[in-house]
Amino acid sequence: MSQISKNIELIKQRITQAATEAKRDLEQIHLLAVSKTKPVEAIEEAYQAGIINVGENYLQEALQKQSQLTALPLIWHFIGPIQSNKTKDITENFTWVHTVDRLKIAERLSHQRPNHLPELQICIQVNISNESTKSGCKPDEILALVSAIEALPNIKLRGLMAIPEPTEDTSLQREVFAKLRQLKDTINERLSLSLDTLSMGMSHDLESAIIEGATWVRIGSAIFGERNYKV
Ligand SMILES: *Cc1c(COP(=O)(O)O)cnc(C)c1O
Repeated sequence: MSQISKNIELIKQRITQAATEAKRDLEQIHLLAVSKTKPVEAIEEAYQAGIINVGENYLQEALQKQSQLTALPLIWHFIGPIQSNKTKDITENFTWVHTVDRLKIAERLSHQRPNHLPELQICIQVNISNESTKSGCKPDEILALVSAIEALPNIKLRGLMAIPEPTEDTSLQREVFAKLRQLKDTINERLSLSLDTLSMGMSHDLESAIIEGATWVRIGSAIFGERNYKV
């Protein structure tokens, strides 16, 4: 068994254990394998081990890999920062985008989505724990952004995503993930929506995220090994 398949088994065990602890239905928790900086051979191995959903942060790198992996029925998720001149390639080549953080980007993804494709599935990235980073919508601006995005064709708003400040303190991890869950509940209540997605939890904090309601955990290094350069 390859190291990558062993790692995937371990991750699945961690997910199952956290779901059991949280008394949550395993079917509501999806595994996104984050392959940034890793070669296509690693993605092929992950596919052999049952991975279908793949997350990439950098457009050029992702397009390159996609062109080499057309034989596999992978579902591609864009999870990196989005510049507006990249929206066309993103909306033409991905099924999910987790990192929409402003209306202009959502409008472009909507407008540029090809007619032959189903609605692009999107999450709004929320700046939930760190006031100093720029990426992510501010929590107090989220209702306005959600309302505006809901009116757009060709894209389907599914929920919220966050990348909290890394911490080893599990109670702090849970506190931040709980905030994202509460924000989704508030949106659903105030705007009568049924957003069903929370994209939160990475290699070091997936248990806390699952306990607080994650529906996508985004796992990179715990599947593919440490990355060679910092991203
Ligand atoms: C790199 C990355 C991940 C995976 O992080 P690991 O700690 O390696 O599991 C998840 N989400 C986003 C947005 C990332 O950029």
